[in-house]
Amino acid sequence: INKGLVKVQAGAVWGDVAEFLNRFHLVISSGDFGDTWVGGLSTSGGIGLLVRSFGLTIDHILAAKVITADGEIRSVDKDNEPDLFWAIRGGSSQIGLVTELLFQADKIEPENQYQCPITVQNIDFIIDDLESFVHKWGKWIDEA
Ligand SMILES: Cc1cc2nc3c(=O)[nH]c(=O)nc-3n(C[C@H](O)[C@H](O)[C@H](O)COP(=O)(O)OP(=O)(O)OC[C@H]3O[C@@H](n4cnc5c(N)ncnc54)[C@H](O)[C@@H]3O)c2cc1C
Repeated sequence: INKGLVKVQAGAVWGDVAEFLNRFHLVISSGDFGDTWVGGLSTSGGIGLLVRSFGLTIDHILAAKVITADGEIRSVDKDNEPDLFWAIRGGSSQIGLVTELLFQADKIEPENQYQCPITVQNIDFIIDDLESFVHKWGKWIDEA
């Protein structure tokens, strides 16, 4: 855990993973909803609140156990069956059944005892000129 190496089984939900890792000030960039499962989100991408700082969930997978259609249980990483390792990071259920994943978690220090440095904010706009708004929005997102 000191090196941020985290093994998670596919049947866990991301909310539980985040809650557990929080004790160690660790995070794995995942979705912004706690009830999605590790299996599906990790094999399809994983875009969430931490994506700008830490990238996609699939960027953090170091190794996985996969059951392929021939019934074999395969341990894959960048050196062992690298094509299969590449394919599960986005290929999802087209490739096999992922049972377990090894992630490289990131360290995130709370600003104080109670506060995690993540802010979620809803912004409402009243739009008179949609076209101009969309252009300005695009520019703002580019610069954000
Ligand atoms: C309310 C909600 C909020 C969401 N928010 C986000 C978000 O913020 N960011 C984001 O990136 N995505 C988000 N998603 C999309 C989510 O990542 C995908 O729907 C994902 O596929 C869900 O995986 P699951 O295991 O929970 O679902 P399931 O319906 O169980 O699986 C979805 C797909 O993944 C395959 N699959 C599941 N487990 C495995 C496994 N172990 N091995 C191989 N294939 C498997 C299934 O066969 C199926 O094709 C959200 C979805 C919902 C419903």
